[in-house]
Amino acid sequence: MDTSANTQKLREDILELKRQKNAIILAHNYVQGDVQDIADFVGDSLELSRKAAENHAENIVFCGVRFMGETAKLLSPRAHVLMPTQHAGCPMADMCPPHELRQFKEDHPDHFLIAYVNTTAETKALVDLCVTSGNAEKILRKIDTQRPILFLPDQNLGANLNQKLGLHMDLWNGCCRSHNRIATEAIELAKQHYPDAPVLVHLECRPEVVAMADAALSTAGILAYAKNSTQKSFIIGTESGILHRLKKENPDKDFHGLWPNVICPDMKKITLQGVHDALSGKGFEIQIPDELIAKAVAPIQRMLEHS
Ligand code: SF4
Repeated sequence: MDTSANTQKLREDILELKRQKNAIILAHNYVQGDVQDIADFVGDSLELSRKAAENHAENIVFCGVRFMGETAKLLSPRAHVLMPTQHAGCPMADMCPPHELRQFKEDHPDHFLIAYVNTTAETKALVDLCVTSGNAEKILRKIDTQRPILFLPDQNLGANLNQKLGLHMDLWNGCCRSHNRIATEAIELAKQHYPDAPVLVHLECRPEVVAMADAALSTAGILAYAKNSTQKSFIIGTESGILHRLKKENPDKDFHGLWPNVICPDMKKITLQGVHDALSGKGFEIQIPDELIAKAVAPIQRMLEHS
């Protein structure tokens, strides 16, 4: 069989296994295009959390990095959350290990802790509230606390929110390496090539990059902006996986990634073969003890109530 016939056979097998296993496939906007195309739903962290919370399927195949699978498990604890690989983590989530956060809490008992959803379940269990890049602004506008706030783990997202909302949150020393690598020079270069194209960047980019953009948004925000805009050409400053969906949903528009390409190596570990493995019992299942689920789900539920 040639490669395309092999891929077609793999797709058919996945769909048959999905039916047999009463499974749904959720995929993040950053995974490879062929994985997005087989998913029941593609979205950002907030949208995927909502889908997991509404889920009635026995099995969720989660095409994203580990903290996303954990979030799905927290919100749908009776489902089996199956990951295509156990090797797709999020380096930013790992920058806030629970023992360091416990120490911070001991040293700063007055702080109100807000975690970006890109954190492990153990870290979530230690915080007061979770946010995503899609709802952080809305939720922070509503929060009424006299306590000092620590925002973790993404210092770029935190700094961008501080600047936009006039806040003074303390920031954890973490970042998304893929977005943090985006340099102002890359934006300048893209603007030279496409001077009329609006620049849309992710909120995980550094503040000086955000300052050069026409809009700084979540991935869902970037997709909505492109869809609703009358412009025909856009510069996209986020992980390149999103270009697949942007082009698919807007065939009459042009989308230009940055140079060098913005890649999350962990998101790229998720393959169609991995999805097949997950459905045939050869993948990796998220397991979280009940006691930890009870603690870690609370700040996510608070987030969903506010958003
Ligand atoms: S793109 Fe960044 S924040 Fe998202 S999973 Fe990859 S490393 Fe983590």
